[in-house]
Amino acid sequence: MLSWIEKIVFIAAVALAAGLAFAEFRKKFRLISSGQKVRRFDRPGLRLGQMLYKVFLQIPVFSQRPVTGFFHAVIFWGFLIFLGVTLNHVAEGFFTGFSLFGYGSIYSLLLFMANLFAGLIILAVIYFFVRRYVFRVSSLDRPSYQSLTVLFFIFTLMVSFIFYEAFKMYPRQFIDGDFLARWALLHVLPEPGALTSFSQGLWLKFLWWLHILIIMAFGVFIMYSKHLHLLAGPINLVFKNLGVKAEIPLLNLEEQEKFGTPQINDLNRKDLLDLFSCAECGRCDDVCPAFQSGKALSPKNLLEKLKNHLMASAPLLHSNPADLKKLLGEVISEEEVWDCTTCAACMEVCPMLNEHIAKIMGMRQFSVLMESRFPEEFQTLYRGLENQGNPWGINADTRSEWAKDLQIPLISEKGETDILLWVGCAGSFDQHSQKIARSFVKILQRAGADFAFLGNEEKCCGDPARRSGMEYLFQIQARQNIETLNHYKFRRIITTCPHGYHVLKNEYPKMGGNYQVLHHAELLHELMAQNKIQIAPSSSVKLTYHDPCYLGRYNHIYDQPRQLLENLNQQRLLEMAASKKTSFCCGAGGGGMWKEEKSGKRISHCRMEQAEKTGADTIVTACPFCSIMFHDAIAETGREKMKTLDLAQAIEEKLI
Ligand code: SF4
Ligand code: SF4
Repeated sequence: MLSWIEKIVFIAAVALAAGLAFAEFRKKFRLISSGQKVRRFDRPGLRLGQMLYKVFLQIPVFSQRPVTGFFHAVIFWGFLIFLGVTLNHVAEGFFTGFSLFGYGSIYSLLLFMANLFAGLIILAVIYFFVRRYVFRVSSLDRPSYQSLTVLFFIFTLMVSFIFYEAFKMYPRQFIDGDFLARWALLHVLPEPGALTSFSQGLWLKFLWWLHILIIMAFGVFIMYSKHLHLLAGPINLVFKNLGVKAEIPLLNLEEQEKFGTPQINDLNRKDLLDLFSCAECGRCDDVCPAFQSGKALSPKNLLEKLKNHLMASAPLLHSNPADLKKLLGEVISEEEVWDCTTCAACMEVCPMLNEHIAKIMGMRQFSVLMESRFPEEFQTLYRGLENQGNPWGINADTRSEWAKDLQIPLISEKGETDILLWVGCAGSFDQHSQKIARSFVKILQRAGADFAFLGNEEKCCGDPARRSGMEYLFQIQARQNIETLNHYKFRRIITTCPHGYHVLKNEYPKMGGNYQVLHHAELLHELMAQNKIQIAPSSSVKLTYHDPCYLGRYNHIYDQPRQLLENLNQQRLLEMAASKKTSFCCGAGGGGMWKEEKSGKRISHCRMEQAEKTGADTIVTACPFCSIMFHDAIAETGREKMKTLDLAQAIEEKLI
């Protein structure tokens, strides 16, 4: 079909497109390589297998948005089919009458699938256009010319394919499988005889070129736009974190000279790859408690700002890295960095498995450890941790006073025990949380459990220090606790605090503290299953359950608390829309407990509104810090009819 001049033009156009795409690929590859090395090559089979599974079944795009996910998947699957169609398209141009697939049943099947997906893809384009430019859904904050360009490309590709096939059949030489093209031939193209074979040939060539040039332009555009996520995303999935969620690397405080991430090239290569993997879909903003409560932080914008800065820094990265801007303050505001509660909701829903918290923690560590800059309220927190081993700064010698009348044995006196009760700072010093600890102890005593506690030997687990970037104080607390714990014999540690649970279970092992750690929800579930505690269920209260972030998202404990509450209450548990994996933080995590929320609404107030919407009168949780936040929120918002309880309190009330 093509003349020899056209064939040369085609080859030149392919070379030009490949050259432009490769130049941009090389530039971005160099940008990513400017980051710090990170080792994520373990379990390659698992990494590759999970990536292929997710990409080919398009699992991540269905998260949160089934309809959008379906149309997204349609475009992806359609493009796989069009790979074959496009190869054949090129072959037809070069060799008139030739088909890579012959003209038998395989060819007809390919055409049938291509027609089917062309129709579905056109529907998908209309859906995305209406969603983005007519309804302007809130998570897609501004109309993007890049998305419009891509929608135009995809639409033109499909239409040019259908009409190219229709002109191939003109005037009436029908081809099996070409059902959409046949419809276009019968209803859109001129009547038989109205076109000369010369005009038909011109139309064929025009549509052939249009289709092929759009494909080339699309290929180049992907490399230069946010649609690079089509290539970077699958690679990002391969290098996902297979370890502890939002793991904070252990700093070597004695040997390292630099802490955190002062500049863009201090981020690791996976962090930089994240920036190009972001599809700007806004799922992270939809679930972020900081963003949803009107604060400065938007996890989506955070990545976008870092990406724009990385691109703008290209000339300096290799020639003069010392002149790079500081990330904190010059690229990302302090407010954004301190707004994060480290709840991990953004990471849970991100289809590209981007790791937002690592970037925020890097800036926090730099700010606290290198510049001694942090929210002023943290002065009291750090002083308390340093001097008294608790964030309130209350005299460490009074740590076990809450338990004076409970006759709990000290492990130092008992010597050996089955359960070592890790009370935590809240249970030891906060009056609401002391009630939780007391309820739990009473349940243990009723169950006849063999347990003891550390008393005044216990120190803060270190979570508030670590999540606020003060790694130095975290390591001091952690090492002291590990030294104490390693001194005693016990089978397992039980705690009522998900923060202590997470740190002891997942972070102490890196420092030589290896223990079997259970959350009290797990132990209560076990005791009830073994009939060691009996309760009198009631149906007088309407319960909803709040998943604490460090119990649910960080440690996947969703079912045991719910089963306990179902046993307790004969009424169905009233679930909040944001529950389980997409639970909405109470606002206390990541140091939030210890500082003021200076902008937007209080996060705990937003959560109380969500709880109230279920019609529940009691919000049950499994974390003393969530309890503190909800007690305050109830008082501050005048919702005195609402009540908040911990699982242990809810069960102890009904013990028989
Ligand atoms: S970070 Fe993930 S969830 Fe957020 S906009 Fe980018 S791709 Fe979407
Ligand atoms: S961890 Fe939570 S608060 Fe921080 S950016 Fe992600 S969703 Fe927002």
